[in-house]
Amino acid sequence: MSALTRFNRRPIVGGNWKMNTTVHTGVDLAEGLTRHIGAVEDVDVVLFPPFPNLQAVSRVIEGSALRLGAQNVFWEQEGAFTGEVAAPMLTAVGCTWVIVGHSERRRLLGETSEVVNRKLHAALLGGLHAILAVGETREERHGGRTERVLQEQLHQSLADVAAHQLEAIVLAYEPVWAIGTGETATPEQARDAHAFVRSVLSVMYGEAAAADMRIQYGGSVTSANADVMLGEPGIDGALVGGGSLRADEFAAIVGSARAVVSLES
Ligand code: PEP
Repeated sequence: MSALTRFNRRPIVGGNWKMNTTVHTGVDLAEGLTRHIGAVEDVDVVLFPPFPNLQAVSRVIEGSALRLGAQNVFWEQEGAFTGEVAAPMLTAVGCTWVIVGHSERRRLLGETSEVVNRKLHAALLGGLHAILAVGETREERHGGRTERVLQEQLHQSLADVAAHQLEAIVLAYEPVWAIGTGETATPEQARDAHAFVRSVLSVMYGEAAAADMRIQYGGSVTSANADVMLGEPGIDGALVGGGSLRADEFAAIVGSARAVVSLES
């Protein structure tokens, strides 16, 4: 892949705070991030705080280059759905992004790819950009089923998504066994999986659309491994959990993404 093609895919780094911040600690973290990386323009940086933090974090990062996202969205736009949050509610508090298909929701909350697909459509209808996460479990990898699992997740999660809608979607390849475990995929494993994901997209949407699609890696990314992972030509940024909870650590990961851009421009 040429540097030009890679350069056309602007890296995107997401910080998934999961269920780890209160409004107070979330605002502190957002303030630190605004100081460290609030002016970064060459990489898309999106923060994903828990729902109760969104409005407060939105105020802190207003006017900076940081973008706000939610960790989940419901598949309907309004109505009697106790405990759920709809896309228009998210945009109203400043969200422009949402994560769908995260393995913690697939595994712990029973979200199937059909559910993920409904959420993806709801997000797009509501005007949000979406990070769509896919990835295999350890058993699936050891059983030689990684590609089949990725292919199924992609086909089912992207069902009825039109090519023109892809510009609002970023893929995240997140091997489940690498999430929150400290065990990162090797650059070769990530390279192969990203190439496979892109090849599936190419069959679904054509080569040009697949070449334009941004595919992040997620799974125990830290400042210690970000240079290597983000230096891989098919890896267009990172979705970061644990490493996004300290401003200096997350800023260093964003710095690794920026180094790739400056090398290639
Ligand atoms: C994630 O939550 O998407 C993730 C990759 O977490 P961690 O970086 O902690 O592995």
